[in-house]
Amino acid sequence: MASQPNKRYPNAPKMQPKAIINPKILSYGDEVEKDWEGCLSLPNVRGKVPRPTKIEVRYLTQNGEVVEEVLEGFLARIFQHEFDHLNGKVFIDRVESTLDIVMEREYRKIIYSE
Ligand SMILES: [Zn+2]
Repeated sequence: MASQPNKRYPNAPKMQPKAIINPKILSYGDEVEKDWEGCLSLPNVRGKVPRPTKIEVRYLTQNGEVVEEVLEGFLARIFQHEFDHLNGKVFIDRVESTLDIVMEREYRKIIYSE
């Protein structure tokens, strides 16, 4: 898992990339937020995906240490996105409507007009 601010996600927190081994999501917060996601498995596609904004997780580090922590916002979102991959899901499996799926070119028009 890695995150750093960039043009596409200016509010992404900066963190060192880290290995998340045998992840588990222990609990989900009640608040759900829809936000845009993309994925290297689905080039040029974007979707507005509802996800809990807060999750409690457990995983092992590269050194075999057990970590339990609460993730919020962008980090909670990317953790859930990657966690889904381990279970054979991609973000378009989670959109509420096909109207929430757009091609990259449309996406750019939308975010630059927001
Ligand atoms: Zn992905």
